[in-house]
Amino acid sequence: MENKVYLMGAGPGDLGLMTVKGLKAIQSADVLIYDYLANPKLLNEAPAHAKKIYVGKQAGNHAKTQDQINQVLVDEGSIAQTVVRLKGGDPYVFGRGGEEAEVLRENGIAFEIIPGITSAVAGPAYAGIPVTHRGISTSFHVMTGHFKSDDQEWDWEALARLGGTLIFLMGVGNLDKIASNLMKHGLSADKPVALIRWATHAHQQTVTGTLGTIVDVVASAGLKPPALIVIGDVVNKRQVLNFFEEKPLFGKRIGVTRARAQASALAGRLEELGAVVAEVPMIEITAPDDLTDVEDSIQRLHAYNKAIFTSANAVHAYMTQLEQADLDVRSLAGIKIFAMGKGTTDALSQYGLRPDFVPERQTSEGLVDLIEPLIVPTEHVLFPHGEKTRGIIEEALKEKCHLDSMVVYRNRVAEGAPDQLNAVLTDGDLDMVTFTSASTVHNYMQTLDKTGRQWNKETLALSIGPITTHAIKSYEIPLIEEVDKPSVDLMVDHILTRWGKEQA
Ligand code: SAH
Repeated sequence: MENKVYLMGAGPGDLGLMTVKGLKAIQSADVLIYDYLANPKLLNEAPAHAKKIYVGKQAGNHAKTQDQINQVLVDEGSIAQTVVRLKGGDPYVFGRGGEEAEVLRENGIAFEIIPGITSAVAGPAYAGIPVTHRGISTSFHVMTGHFKSDDQEWDWEALARLGGTLIFLMGVGNLDKIASNLMKHGLSADKPVALIRWATHAHQQTVTGTLGTIVDVVASAGLKPPALIVIGDVVNKRQVLNFFEEKPLFGKRIGVTRARAQASALAGRLEELGAVVAEVPMIEITAPDDLTDVEDSIQRLHAYNKAIFTSANAVHAYMTQLEQADLDVRSLAGIKIFAMGKGTTDALSQYGLRPDFVPERQTSEGLVDLIEPLIVPTEHVLFPHGEKTRGIIEEALKEKCHLDSMVVYRNRVAEGAPDQLNAVLTDGDLDMVTFTSASTVHNYMQTLDKTGRQWNKETLALSIGPITTHAIKSYEIPLIEEVDKPSVDLMVDHILTRWGKEQA
């Protein structure tokens, strides 16, 4: 198959506003090149093997120059089969898609353009503003608001005379110049204006005013780019056509911790109701780089008297290594097994093993209390565990027997998760985080820790049941609510009762 680069418009933000052709391109991508306007959730659609390259440009924070981006396109386009260059909105609407296509052509690399829904039209629509409307506006004009001097870029008089809806992209920094020039050249100070930030995203923010007031309105709202500026009488239609911002959970920022596919259903429901959903991806369980200790222990299994498993992960990881060594559970015969709790016991049972001892208190301390009186100094004790442990068991047992403590798995926050969460929290704190199991609590708190942030005391933790609540309480989280029964429906109901506006 021939190499091809797709210069693709990802739409304005709402994931549903992407073309079917674009979605197919992403699903077949070997390389994805994206920047900050494209919804990062699109990346989840890519195949697991796809290489993801961020070339984002954000005001004041240049990740890569256009020349460098072009070079990445040429480099990747020359080797990878399918390269998808994702752009916010439409690639040819102020997206520099034309320049990138020219460079590809010069280098003999085949390309295709996949148009996208531009924010210039979809953004106003999601703010309740039709860009044309019978009797009000018979044309719309899309312009860049990014220019260096007042009179260089635009013939303001001509613009003021157009009569249609004026839409400026990249114009927030020049709002005062735009407003004052249009008024100077004949538009009324009462002409309605709207600014729409992160249009079509769940965290869309809209402010409205007039040419005379908008600069102050924007300043007091502290509204920053990226935003669209819409000028014209159609802005008033927002009073009747505003569907998106009226959703029952619009503006609510809810974290959904993901441990199972089921949590995605919760995220989907909440998004449908208008909430900003931050999904925190799973922890990744990987093998440690150095497995020498584990392999040695497997060669000496006959010498062990006792084994301690403190998690299901430890069980699965150890049994995987046993299998790799062409052995099975018979090698563990005669070893007394201590298991931390139900999860660990269940994992053992998958291999036909039943623990001899399970502490009542399911903590390291509880386990130590149980083991200590049973241990004999000459005994050899196997303790395979995760990379991060509190060290309680090791501390307590290392002087009392021959303890072989080893890392058999690494428990890592999925790559990219802290960045994703950080991006969400940079945009504003969460109103609520939903937890559907104890592990989701720990996953979330670990991810949060990696962002260098702390739990905001005003954020509500919504728990699915007592064990999850117990896990939440082990952190400094003051606001906790628990649903009566563990069900996604009840969680959604609970959230709607707490915050839901009247649903039509
Ligand atoms: N190709 C894009 C536009 C890229 S220029 C498109 O067709 O939509 C970047 C500018 O587009 C931003 O500065 C902002 O003015 C506007 N923009 C793009 N996406 C936006 C969004 N979701 N909400 C508000 N403005 C957006």
